This record gives sequence, structure tokens and C-alpha cells, in this order.
Amino acid sequence: MASNAENHLVTEKIGVVGAGIVGLAVARELATARGAEVTVLEKEGRVGAHQTGHNSGVVHAGIYYPPGSLKARLCREGVALLKEYCAAYALPYEEVGKLVVATSGAERPRLAALAERARANGVPGIAELDALALREIEPHAVGVAAVHSPHTAICDFPAVARRLALDVAELGGSVRLAHPVRALRERAGKVEVVAGRRRFAFDRLVVCAGLGTDAVARMAGAGGDVRIVPFRGEYYALRGKARELVRGLIYPVPDPRYPFLGVHLTRRIDGGVLVGPNAVLAMAYEGYRWSNFGNVRQILGWPGTLRMARAHWRTGLKEVYGSLVKDAFVMAARRYVPELGPADLERAPGGVRAQAVARDGGLVDDFVVDVRGKVVLVRNAPSPAATSSLAIARHIAGIVPALVR
Ligand SMILES: Cc1cc2nc3c(=O)[nH]c(=O)nc-3n(C[C@H](O)[C@H](O)[C@H](O)COP(=O)(O)OP(=O)(O)OC[C@H]3O[C@@H](n4cnc5c(N)ncnc54)[C@H](O)[C@@H]3O)c2cc1C
Repeated sequence: MASNAENHLVTEKIGVVGAGIVGLAVARELATARGAEVTVLEKEGRVGAHQTGHNSGVVHAGIYYPPGSLKARLCREGVALLKEYCAAYALPYEEVGKLVVATSGAERPRLAALAERARANGVPGIAELDALALREIEPHAVGVAAVHSPHTAICDFPAVARRLALDVAELGGSVRLAHPVRALRERAGKVEVVAGRRRFAFDRLVVCAGLGTDAVARMAGAGGDVRIVPFRGEYYALRGKARELVRGLIYPVPDPRYPFLGVHLTRRIDGGVLVGPNAVLAMAYEGYRWSNFGNVRQILGWPGTLRMARAHWRTGLKEVYGSLVKDAFVMAARRYVPELGPADLERAPGGVRAQAVARDGGLVDDFVVDVRGKVVLVRNAPSPAATSSLAIARHIAGIVPALVR
């Protein structure tokens, strides 16, 4: 093909807001695939300080997501890329397997639909088990039937994020910690960004700010029809010998009305077992505790929040009860592993999900990426975005037009 001497690719300077697993994966991808000079701007003093460092650590296999959705595609691609990445850098990655367990006949049709969906998404090894067969996988679990996903894995997402940050540096980029982005504007073909006490000029900016998305979107003049609503996910951890009652991952049949998967039992890469997370509407973006009320105005000021609360108030109250009363967690765990008692559970640190909610109150199910001029905004990257991060990065690199001069 004849090349046009006037039009050639130049080294792009690309800024990325947020050193969570998505931002770091995007930065690495743009540096590798595009040869861009990347700068990651992170407000905290370490990488992976928010969702990336406060999650269940499950590498989802792609069971739940509607076939054809970005989640379904990028989860499957993401698993393959993540597995390879962990192997390449000797990062922990263990295929402990997952059981999705029906505890009553009423849940059977939804369980069967889930198995069908998993197969449609290309999840390998899916098996439908009866009450006896499920105990061969998890000897202390009970249920009337289960779907088994043997390749569902666990990993250490913060360790992956730290490794990605090293890659970025090795590729000639930089990760600037303690650089909160305070202002940005597009001017003279550049995106000017004020972060910490410094000013930067980029050819493009990719915003992967998780719980801070709306604030950065506002700076970019991007309102739009979705806002981040924070949902706290609280956990308990199993104590001592009780940990031996769970081999891998035991999940309920999810309620199809919600993107959250329900309180589950999760083996961790460090040998611990978590029970959780629930999903409680928080009143601060970084609302790790009940006492955090810092963003009430923004959260309740979004019409979607109140519409969502009106539509789902019963579930909301149940989640609040579960948050305040330990017995609710114990009951949720005992449904699947009846040998567990209150003394086996102790509080563990939780996380806060950045979940986009539409103006009409609908919880946005799929990943959402908006392109606005020279700014690319990741507007919704909830679970399984940690699993999918390397594939999300490729997707973003594919939709950001290359700079041609
Ligand atoms: C309780 C819980 C359980 C989950 N379980 C799983 C799971 O098992 N498997 C899975 O795949 N996913 C899971 N997820 C989802 C997963 O953790 C997230 O989808 C993923 O971590 C999103 O990564 P991120 O980089 O977009 O966000 P984050 O990790 O939140 O990173 C965003 C970064 O942007 C920074 N930032 C924000 N504003 C600014 C600003 N103005 N200037 C500079 N920096 C800024 C923040 O400090 C933060 O470091 C879970 C999430 C939660 C909360």
C-alpha cells in the first residue's frame, strides 16, 4: 500500500487515570501494541488501592454473562490472557473450581439456564451435578443440584497490578503515585491534565478511575446518562479448622435481577476462605464503613439512585440487615455448608464496587467505554473486570484511533 509521506504514525503520549488493574493493563497494552509513551496518574500512594485490592480474587470463567455481551467476550479472552500472564511471571493462579449450588427445586430451572449460558459462552468443562455428585467436589456442601466449572480459578489481583506497573516502567512509561487528577481540558489538539502539583499534556487520555469515574468525567465535560453508585461488599473470614470445610468456590444461584452474585464461599490464594460479599448501597464513593457519608449529595442527587432504591427496596433492606446482623451471614453460609457456626466466622475487610446506574434506575449490566474527543472513559467496569482486565485493555487499544500526523 502506498504510504502518504504527510501521514505517518508518531509516538503518542497517552495519559491513563487510575492505577487499578484496568488502568495498568491499558497502559501496558498501549505501550506494547502502540509504542505509546504512557503516564499513569494515581491519586493513592500505591497501585491497586481500591477495587483491585479489595475483591474476592476469583478469575471468573464466564458463566453468568449474556452471550454476545462485552462481559461474556472479554471475560473469556481475559481468562486466557491472565492465565498466560500469571504463568509468565510466576504469579499465583490456581484452578480450584466453582460449584453453583441450588438448594431447592425452585432454583433448578435457573441453574439449568446458567449451565446453558456457560456453554454458549464457551466455558470449558461445565458439568451438571446431582446432590451426591456435588459432594464429591465439595464434601461438606449440600444442595439439590449444582453446576461445576472446574477451570474457575483464584489469583492475586494486587500482585498482577504490581507486575503490570513494573511492565509499564520497563516499557519506558511511568506510574505516578500520589498524583490525583484535579482538572483537565482539551486544548490545541492536546489533553491538558493537572495532577497533584504538576501539569501534563497528552495526545489522548484514558480514564480508568473506578469509584472516581464521575468526578473525572465531570472534568472532561462528559455528563451522560449513567453515574457510579457505590455498593459496599462486606466479608467474613472462616477461622481455623472451619477453612478445611471448603475446597474451592461455592456460589448460590444468582438472582437474575442483579449483577451481584450473592454471598459465596471463596478460597483465597493465601489459604483463607471468605464468606461474602453482600451488596449494601454506600453513601460515599470510598464508603468502606457505615460511617462514611462523604458523597450523599452526589449519590442521592442522581435520579437513578432513588428510582433503583424504589424498585429494589426489599432487597436493599435485606442487605442492610445482613450487614448489621452477623447471623444473616452465618445463615447464608450454612445454607451451603451446614457445619459452619457463628464461632467460625470473623469480620474481614470489605470492598466497594463501582457500579454504573442509569437515569431510569437500571443497574448497567455490561462494561461501558465512551469515547469523547481525545478522552476515553471507562464508565462501567465492575466484576468481572479484574478477570477481564487484559482483554479490556486490548478492546480499548482497538477503539482508540491511532494518532496520525
Ligand atoms: C467486593 C468486590 C468483589 C469483587 N470480586 C471480583 C472477583 O472475584 N473477580 C473479578 O474479576 N472482579 C471482582 N470485582 C471487581 C473488580 O475488583 C473490579 O472490576 C476491578 O478491580 C476494576 O478495576 P479498576 O482498575 O477499574 O478500578 P480500581 O481498582 O478501583 O482502580 C481505579 C483507580 O483509580 C484511582 N483514581 C480514582 N480517581 C482518581 C483521580 N481523580 N486521580 C487519580 N487516580 C484516581 C483510584 O485511586 C484507583 O486506584 C470485585 C469488586 C469488589 C468491590
